[in-house]
Amino acid sequence: MNGKKDIVGRPQEFDPVRRKFLSAVAAAAGVTLAPGIMLYGITRSSPAAARSPELAASSDVRWGMLIDLERCDNGCNECVSACSKENGIRGHGRQATDAQWIRKVDIHNPQTGHSKSLPMMCQHCANPPCVDVCPTGASFKRADGIVLVDKHTCIGCRYCMMACPYKARSFVHEALEDQKPHAPRGKGTVESCTMCVHRIDAGGEPACVEACADKGGGAMLFGDLNDADSEISRRVSSFASQQIRADLGLDPGVRYRNL
Ligand code: SF4
Ligand code: SF4
Repeated sequence: MNGKKDIVGRPQEFDPVRRKFLSAVAAAAGVTLAPGIMLYGITRSSPAAARSPELAASSDVRWGMLIDLERCDNGCNECVSACSKENGIRGHGRQATDAQWIRKVDIHNPQTGHSKSLPMMCQHCANPPCVDVCPTGASFKRADGIVLVDKHTCIGCRYCMMACPYKARSFVHEALEDQKPHAPRGKGTVESCTMCVHRIDAGGEPACVEACADKGGGAMLFGDLNDADSEISRRVSSFASQQIRADLGLDPGVRYRNL
């Protein structure tokens, strides 16, 4: 064992020897599972290629979000709908197996009676346990902090889903149709919020952030946490903000105000 501990202090399960062994198993399993994995829109010029860290991401940047819960209405689902539409996830007539890359989570203080509903998605952790436990390297973090899943090397073991304390990842159980070319998904693989990397690499901002602003809420702010002059950095340094479960030391890129 390499002495590393997991997020709850247990010995890290994946020492280098075991990881190498599992990678070999994973490679074999990938061949076995290949017929069940349906991927669409993967070409050299697709966003899957553009997401290559060498091509698109720079460690000078750390993309993040600041979500002001004072501006987030309990009944509003605009960010969830926008994400579903943007990424080709069925939003209407939802079924139990439908994915949801962002969800509204209700929190309630029984002592004060105070309730809030907060948007929860992949927190794009600086120290992501989903990446640590992935036996094939399919879960990875780009240099700019965006955490993604490479559908080509994901074998659907779901270790990352168990490791994520935010329950931010989901598994695709069914064959999918009508996928978006910029957001390829595949039966038998794990997925989560991509921070709309296809938009970011084109100089835009995430669909949920845009939809929230269009609705007039303006609760979600996207930007570069490494740039002291960015709006998000100015607000983070001027006002109190929180990372959810900061005690875990994962350093999420998504921050909240007025939690
Ligand atoms: Fe990984 Fe979960 Fe952190 Fe996202 S929120 S980077 S899926 S551990
Ligand atoms: Fe969905 Fe994009 Fe928002 Fe992530 S950043 S929750 S993928 S709309």
